[in-house]
Amino acid sequence: MRDDNCIFCKIANGDIPARTIYEDDDFRIIMDAAPATRGHSLILPKNHYANLFEMPEELAAKVLPLAKKVGADMIEKLGSDGMNLVQNNGEVAGQTVHHFHLHLIPRYADGCKTDVTWSHADLSDAELDDICNLLQ
Ligand code: AMP
Ligand code: ZN
Repeated sequence: MRDDNCIFCKIANGDIPARTIYEDDDFRIIMDAAPATRGHSLILPKNHYANLFEMPEELAAKVLPLAKKVGADMIEKLGSDGMNLVQNNGEVAGQTVHHFHLHLIPRYADGCKTDVTWSHADLSDAELDDICNLLQ
């Protein structure tokens, strides 16, 4: 279940070296090569899934507990004050590497500032009601 043309498949399976902070049978966690902040890391599954919606539920269900465990450890060791978890699906959502990954981005009250933000869509109450009905 690897894609020979996928750089994260190669990294996750140890074919290309990366700074690994955690590894188990299903996942490797590496430091991001162009970090947004000190400690910015990526949870990569060892098998290839282009995005969250391609992942089997049992594997997807392991990601958040892993982020909690490793993220808490990172916060303690790095002395960060908070952490963003970011997960992009699809080019339009900002995904540049099409192998599922969850960003762990430690945040610091002082220094190492970055933007993890979005602007607000201008939607009327009627539009919000329509969307809500559609999604229920
Ligand atoms: P995304 O925009 O969500 O697809 O994020 C892709 C992330 O992968 C970016 O933060 C990149 O800096 C990071 N990245 C790309 N190539 C590598 C690599 N070879 N090793 C580590 N991180 C990488
Ligand atoms: Zn891959």
